[in-house]
Order: sequence, then C-alpha cells, then structure tokens
Amino acid sequence: MSKKLLCDLHIHTRKSDGELSIEEVVDIYGKNGFDVIAITDHFLDSESLKNKNIDKKYRKSLLREELNDYYSEIERCKELAMEKYGLLVIPGIEFTANTRGFHILGLDVTEFIDPDQEVEPIVEKIKKQGGIAIAPHPVNGKTSSRHEGNTYLWDRLEKFRGLFDAWEIGNRDDYFSHVGMEGLNYVANSDMHSRKNISSWKTVLTCEKDVESIKEAIRSGNTEVMFYSEYSD
Ligand code: ZN
Ligand code: ZN
Repeated sequence: MSKKLLCDLHIHTRKSDGELSIEEVVDIYGKNGFDVIAITDHFLDSESLKNKNIDKKYRKSLLREELNDYYSEIERCKELAMEKYGLLVIPGIEFTANTRGFHILGLDVTEFIDPDQEVEPIVEKIKKQGGIAIAPHPVNGKTSSRHEGNTYLWDRLEKFRGLFDAWEIGNRDDYFSHVGMEGLNYVANSDMHSRKNISSWKTVLTCEKDVESIKEAIRSGNTEVMFYSEYSD
C-alpha cells in the first residue's frame, strides 16, 4: 500500500525572483516533513524580459546561459535533500510569457526549451522529454493581483483542455473551484517566493516516492489537495 506524499510542485528560488536559495528551500521543506518538491524558477520569453512596464518582481528570470548552473545546483541539492530528509527534489521550469498572458510549469524538465514559442510546442517539448506540463494559476486570483492578465490558457480552455497533464486548482491562498467543476486533473502548490509562502495549498499523491510514479499519479488524476499551515512555537 503506497503512502500519501505531501508535495509542493511550484517553488521559486533566488535563481529567479524568489528570496531563498535552493538549499534553504530544501531545509525548510525537509524540516516540515514534505516528501516531494519541484524547483520551478521563471524562464521569461524575450518579449517579457525586455518589457520594462512589467512589474519589477516579474522581471527576474533565468537566462539561457544560466540553465546549466541551475540544473547542477538542483542536482546537488537533490542528493542532499534525499540523504538528510528523504525529500525528493524534481527539477522544473516556469515558462513565463507575461506579455502573452500565460505561464507553463514543466516538471522533470532538464533539456532546453525555448520560451519564445507558442503554448503547444512548449508543452509538446516538455512531454517529449518525459516531463509533466501544468497550467498554473489559470484563473485570476482573488487574494492577490499577482497573476492579473495571465488568463490566456483559461480563456482558451476548450483548445488547451487535453494538452496539459494538470491545472492548478490551488495556488498559494487562492482556490480555483472552476478547475474542479470543469473536471480537469489538478494539483495545488505554494508558488513559493518567500519563507512564509510555505503555508499554502499543496498536492497530496498516493504513490511511491519516485519521479516516475509521481508523474503517473498526476497524469492519471490520482491527486488530492490540502491547505498546509506551518505551526510556529
Ligand atoms: Zn506563474
Ligand atoms: Zn510561479
């Protein structure tokens, strides 16, 4: 009988616009007893990168020449996380096309994918390397304006319904009940940028703690969500 795995599959670090290093993130989730995390730093398309009107906090992005360092740092922390906490770390990217109004999470993605492409080729390339494609924060959030305007995917739901492996039903404090009402596969994540974001929606999977089983659980819609609150003394 597989046990339930507490997962956060959407986390930013200092490699893009997060406040913490990958190692600090590992320590926080490890100490909180998590089973699985995915590091998913922003990789902006060139339009979004040069658009000076974009909110400052969204401008920080991985650059193409930084990707190798990014993946080797994740790899280093992955070993440390498993050894120290039994925490599985999955490498990922958040393809971030702010000016076109969409973000795409790719999990277990380690080969270069150009963010200057349309939605379909990005998702196809995620899947081609065995990765998982998730539509994050698909609906404008009520508790924040963080994702204002990023509704390109949701506005074209019929077109993209079958393309993504899952949609975020929870992102930080926001809960998008429409995702459930539409019968879509779902996950829920912190979209962590700072320490306090650990208290947020999470994904719970019932499967073995290895990347292939985790991806299969998400693809088959074998997911639950819960709101996780960190207790402080
Ligand atoms: Zn996003
Ligand atoms: Zn994000």
